[in-house]
Amino acid sequence: MTAPLSSASLNHQVRLAARPRGLPVASDWQFTEEALPPLPPGGVRVRTLALSLDPAMRGWMNEGRSYIPPVGIGEVMRAGGVGVVEASDSPAFEVGTAVSGGLGVQQYVTLPAEQLRKSGLTRIDLRLGTLPQWLNVLGMPGMTAYFGLLDVGHPQPGQTVVVSGAAGAVGQTVGQLARIKGCRVVGIAGGQAKCDWVVQELGFDACIDYKTGSVKDGLKQHCPAGVDVYFDNVGGEILDTVLTRITRGARIVICGAISQYNATSAVQGPQNYLSLLVNRARMEGMVVFDYADRYPQAVAELAGYLQDGRLKSREDVVAGTVQDFPATLLKLFSGENFGKLVLQLGSA
Ligand code: NAP
Repeated sequence: MTAPLSSASLNHQVRLAARPRGLPVASDWQFTEEALPPLPPGGVRVRTLALSLDPAMRGWMNEGRSYIPPVGIGEVMRAGGVGVVEASDSPAFEVGTAVSGGLGVQQYVTLPAEQLRKSGLTRIDLRLGTLPQWLNVLGMPGMTAYFGLLDVGHPQPGQTVVVSGAAGAVGQTVGQLARIKGCRVVGIAGGQAKCDWVVQELGFDACIDYKTGSVKDGLKQHCPAGVDVYFDNVGGEILDTVLTRITRGARIVICGAISQYNATSAVQGPQNYLSLLVNRARMEGMVVFDYADRYPQAVAELAGYLQDGRLKSREDVVAGTVQDFPATLLKLFSGENFGKLVLQLGSA
C-alpha cells in the first residue's frame, strides 16, 4: 500500500464535463485531483495565484468552429492566469518568477519545454502593476481595449466614442483610452453605481444606465452629433439601438456580444444594419490574440498611463479555490461583477 499523497503534491482541477445549453450549470463541471507529475526536462511548474474569468469562456465550452478550438469534454477548463514558478528546468524561467499565461482552472500547471511557447507563458513585472492588474489593464482585456479601439476603431480627437459594458474589464480601459486620445466618451452600463463610477472616477463624459433608462434617449441626449466609434461588448438590442445614431463613416468595433452568449435559440443579429450603408460606415470584428506580437508596445503605453495617473483600473477579486470557479463565472452574465472578474487562489 502506498502512503497517501500530501496536499502539496496534489493538483485540484476543474474540467468540462458537458456542453451547456444556456447558462452553465453544476453538471457541466467536474472536479478532479491528481498527483503532480515529475518536472519534465526543460519544463516549468507554475502555481496559480489568480485566474482570469472571461465571458469568452462560455464560447469555448461550445462545440463548433471558432477562432480557437473548443475545450474538449474531460479537459481542464481553459483559463488565463497569473502565477509563480515553483520548479524549473528552463533557463528562461527561474524559480520565483511571476508569470502569466494559459494556466487553466487548476492549482498547478506543469509545462514541458515544447509547450512553454504555446501556453504563452510570459514573465510579468510586478513593479508595473499588481497581479490582478496583470489580468486586467496590463493583460488580455487591456490588450483588447487598446488594439480594438486604436487599430479597429480609429478614434480621432474630438470624436464621440460610445462603449458598452463600460464598467467591465475591457470597457473601463476603452473609455479611458478614448479620453486620453482626446475623444468625448459615453458609456453604457447596467446600474447607477457602475454609471457613477465611470463618470466620477474614470472621467467619462456621460453614462447611460440601460437597465433603468432608454438607450435611445440617452444617446440622443449625450451624443447630439451622433456616434463616431461604437465599441460593442454586448451585441443584441443595444447594438441595434446604437446603429440608429451613427455618423457618416462611423466605425463599429465588434469585440463581443455577451447578451447572446447563453442564447438557447438563434443569436439576435442587428436589424438596423442598413444604417451602415446609409452612413458609409464599417462594422469589424476583432480577436485580441491576433495582436500578440504587439502586446509589449501596448503594455508599455498602458503602464505609463497607470503610472502617471491618467488610467485607473478596477478589479473584482473573489478569494477562493478552484471549486469556486463555476459559481464565480456566472457573475459575468448577471452583471454582478464590478470591474475585471478575478478568482484569487493564493498569494505570491
Ligand atoms: P466584463 O465587462 O468585465 O463583464 C461582463 C459584463 O457584461 C457584466 O458585468 C455586465 O455588465 C455585462 N452584461 C452581462 N450580460 C449582459 C446583457 N445581457 N446585456 C448587456 N450587458 C450585459 O467582461 P469583459 O471581460 O470586459 O468582456 C467584455 C466583452 O468583451 C465580452 O463580450 C467579451 O466576450 C469581449 N471580449 C472580446 C475579446 C476579443 O478578442 N474580441 C477579448 C476580451 C473580451 P452590466 O452590469 O453593465 O450589464
